[in-house]
Parts: sequence; structure tokens; C-alpha cells
Amino acid sequence: MADYEQLDTPSVVLRADLQRLFDSLHARGYETIAPRVENGAIIYDEVTSVDALPAGWTDEQEGGFYRLEGRDDGALFGYTVGPQSWKRYLSPPIRRLWQARKNGDGFEIVHEDAPTPHYALIGVRACELHAIHHLDDVYLGGSTIDADYQQRREAAFIVAVNCGKAGNTCFCASLGTGPAVGPGYDLALTELVTEREHAFVVTVGSERGADVLADVPHRPAAPGEIDLAEAIVAEAARHMGRTLETTGLKELLYRSFEHPHWDEVAERCLTCGNCTMVCPTCFCFTVEDTTDLTGQSAERWRRADSCFTTAFTFITSGSQRASAKARYRQWLTHKLATWQDQFDSLGCVGCGRCITWCPVGIDLTAEVAALRAEEIGQPQPEAVLEMA
Ligand code: SF4
Ligand code: SF4
Repeated sequence: MADYEQLDTPSVVLRADLQRLFDSLHARGYETIAPRVENGAIIYDEVTSVDALPAGWTDEQEGGFYRLEGRDDGALFGYTVGPQSWKRYLSPPIRRLWQARKNGDGFEIVHEDAPTPHYALIGVRACELHAIHHLDDVYLGGSTIDADYQQRREAAFIVAVNCGKAGNTCFCASLGTGPAVGPGYDLALTELVTEREHAFVVTVGSERGADVLADVPHRPAAPGEIDLAEAIVAEAARHMGRTLETTGLKELLYRSFEHPHWDEVAERCLTCGNCTMVCPTCFCFTVEDTTDLTGQSAERWRRADSCFTTAFTFITSGSQRASAKARYRQWLTHKLATWQDQFDSLGCVGCGRCITWCPVGIDLTAEVAALRAEEIGQPQPEAVLEMA
């Protein structure tokens, strides 16, 4: 995916005119996907009206803890990230790849040819935009292209939102993935709620973003409004609930393969796989074939998978990662070390979801800190000293 250059100076759209953004996107054939409240959490779903956004809600998050609470300023984006990520729209967790129908002595393969959905993703946070770029690396960056992802991704219109609040489990500032959105959006909003106005400072990131903004009443942002927008995001950066020291992270993980701390984590880990399901960059899937009872048709399905199941590495002699220790170590080492070898980046964007939605509150920032702390003063093998 090409990075878009910022094409315009910031504008201001009033809260009262934000519906026109949704209307413009609808008029262009987009299905607008945005945050809304359901079952006590903020999820991403089809939202056609600004009035359905989570106005006046915020979230409190900690390890194994998530609650919505009211806020009295009526902000539409006054929370951080919930349990879902945008990967469910760009790479759906369940997808039929093809069907086969019996045809005389053989089978006729019928490939799926559903029309590509055109999503406008509204409310994409900085860390989530980075996560989408990571999915681009996985699905589009190698020798094999995922055509379904490619079509969805190219069709998607991205309305990013700068964070004005950092969550207790957020650590994007440590990784350079937030809270200010980077390149790759069509439009980016920063919400201003002051005594004088409820408005959005809007930055254009693409030609089609400029086209959509042209349909929405707006005016040039005043210098004071631009300064306030920047100050809000800077304040969020100062209030990250977590940090992750990235210096030498890959080498630390590789050195720690036999570290006793993995046993301590394994005593707590339920191997439920929640961390992989909520993670915006986890991409593993499996393929399942099914047949009907008459043997007349068969189907091939692609389903999201998790490295926390024993089936994930099952081969003829059994699961290759039978213990919780082996599976947690694999997951964390892939996120923070082997991903760097594969894609030249960390596989984590610091969204904090795996901490919040782990039922026992296992916290990768704490586990890495423990590996570091328990390593201090310990003699290092020669091979490790060479790597460092
Ligand atoms: S780390 Fe937490 S969320 Fe992940 S598998 Fe273990 S118990 Fe489940
Ligand atoms: S590993 Fe955890 S903090 Fe990092 S991107 Fe995945 S869910 Fe977010």
C-alpha cells in the first residue's frame, strides 16, 4: 500500500456537521463501520448515524479488566480500543474459499465470487493503522498475495482518529505507533470539546479524502485549534498506562528461550487464546474441508486459528507445543523477536488488548520486564554475547 502524503492544511468540521461525512461516504457506496456500544463494550459495526456513536462514554482498562463509564462532555471518541479490531473487516475470521459439487464421475469447483465490500472504517486509532500496515506486510508483502484481503484493503476508506486519552494498558508511545496517527489514512480527526465548540480538526491524507471532505461543511482551522489538537494528543502520549523497553528486545527474547520465567507465566496462562483473537496483528488461520451427508458437495473454509491451541502444531506424532509454556513463549517470541526477522518490525503495536482481555491479566510488558530484570547479573553464554 502506498503511503499518502498529507495534501492539505487542517480544517475544522463541527460536531453538528459530522453526519455529512457519513452521508458523503454512503453516497459513494461505502458501508460505514464505526464504534458503537454493545454488551458493555465498544465494538466496531455498521453505523449509519453519528447519533449511534458512543457519545459520552469512556473505558477503564486494566489487566483482565474492562468497564465502560460515562463522561459528561459528550465526546464521540473519548475512549481507547475495545475487544475488536479492524482485521475482522479486512480479513474475516471465517470465510468460505470454494465449494465443490459432484458432477458425473468428478467434481465441479465453484469459487467464491462475492462482490468486494467497500468499507469506510471510521475511528481507526494510530496503533490500529499500524496494525493494518502489518497485515499488509503479511498478506500483500510476500510472494503470495491474498486476493480477498487485497480487494478489501484497496476498497477501504480510512477515517483515523487521534487519541485524546490513553488507556491503562496502552503502550503505543513506547513503540512509536501512536497516539498520533501516521500516514495511510484518507481523513484524520482530532476531537475538540471546549466550552466554545464541539468540533473536529480534520487532516486530509489522500485525494479521495479531499473529495469526501468537500461534501462536508468545513473551514480552515485556526492556529489555536491546531495547537489545541496537538496538545491533546501530546497529553495522551504522556499518560500511557504501560511502557515497553524495546532496546535489544529481539536479542533478549532469543537469549531467554530457556528462562525459568516462562514456567511462572505458564502457571497462570489458561491457553484460552483470547490474546491472539483480540490482537490486531495476529493473522494465523487454518483451513477446514467439510462434506454434506449425501457426498454430493464439499466446501473449503478458512478460519482464524490461534497458536495457543494444541491442534495448531499437531502433526503425526502429536502437538509440537504441548505445554502452556511452549505456546506462550512462541506467541511472545514471535510478536517481539521473530517478527523482526520476518518483517523488519515488531509484531506488536502497543494497543494493550491482549493485557485487558486476558482473563488472568497476563501482561506482556510485565513479562518482558521480568525477563530483563531476572537477567541482570546473570552470566551470559558466549553465543549470546556475540548476538548482543
Ligand atoms: S496469555 Fe491470557 S489470553 Fe493469552 S492464552 Fe494465556 S490466559 Fe489466554
Ligand atoms: S501483542 Fe497485545 S499489545 Fe501488542 S498489538 Fe497484539 S494485542 Fe496489542
